[in-house]
Amino acid sequence: MRDKKLLHPELQAKIALLEKELGKENIKIGWAETLRTKAEQDNLYAKGRSKPGPKVTNAPGDSYRSMHQWGIAADFYLIMDIDGDGQTKDDAYNNAKKTFNRVGQVAKKLGLEWGGDWRSIKDLPHLQLSQWGSTPTKLIATYGTPKKFMKSASWGTSSGKKAAGNASKAQKNTDKAATRIKSAQSFNKAYAGVYKAAANCNLMAGPGTGVVATLEKGTQVQCYGYYTKKNGKVYLFVQAGKKTGFIQKEKLNK
Ligand SMILES: [Zn+2]
Repeated sequence: MRDKKLLHPELQAKIALLEKELGKENIKIGWAETLRTKAEQDNLYAKGRSKPGPKVTNAPGDSYRSMHQWGIAADFYLIMDIDGDGQTKDDAYNNAKKTFNRVGQVAKKLGLEWGGDWRSIKDLPHLQLSQWGSTPTKLIATYGTPKKFMKSASWGTSSGKKAAGNASKAQKNTDKAATRIKSAQSFNKAYAGVYKAAANCNLMAGPGTGVVATLEKGTQVQCYGYYTKKNGKVYLFVQAGKKTGFIQKEKLNK
């Protein structure tokens, strides 16, 4: 199956966040495998047994030994032109630029387990929720079958939805912080010009609130004359690289 909607709600939420984060780095991924049905697992198990080819798994469908059968794992591939030949199809599993490692790194920041960290067989495209351990042992002991797990509270009703909600809330807050730059209230041509940070300081979303970025001492910023006065202090509205925000005038040298 390739349908993300069949996955545990928390994994769906984390996948959405992951894709968004990777988008900022121009990394595009697709999903080769999400929920694996019993029939699909049986089909894999048959390879190298009743069907030709090498064996690919030791887990028959009714053993539920694959995390994919529990809806808490997904395998990604790249939709990118890694080798620069103008095509993406031949690079779905091209790790020449360590893109799989980067995806794994970002996924781990979201609390996911990455198959690339496994010691025995490294599984670079594999990601899974981490709270039930690396293997289905705990799930099997607790729920017996994926079907029962999917009807349980930890799937859709309470914790799963809550976790999904928390994940999307966290993303919304990040988005808000990025877009909620207040507009400057006043203009004074004399304030326009290039400044340098006198010390390490914060670029703020508003006068004195909401850190947008930390600027190192000596960082150049540009002010076009807009500012806001708050509690007797002047906060210049400045551009620092691609970011804009407020910095207290005292912390800048012209
Ligand atoms: Zn996998």
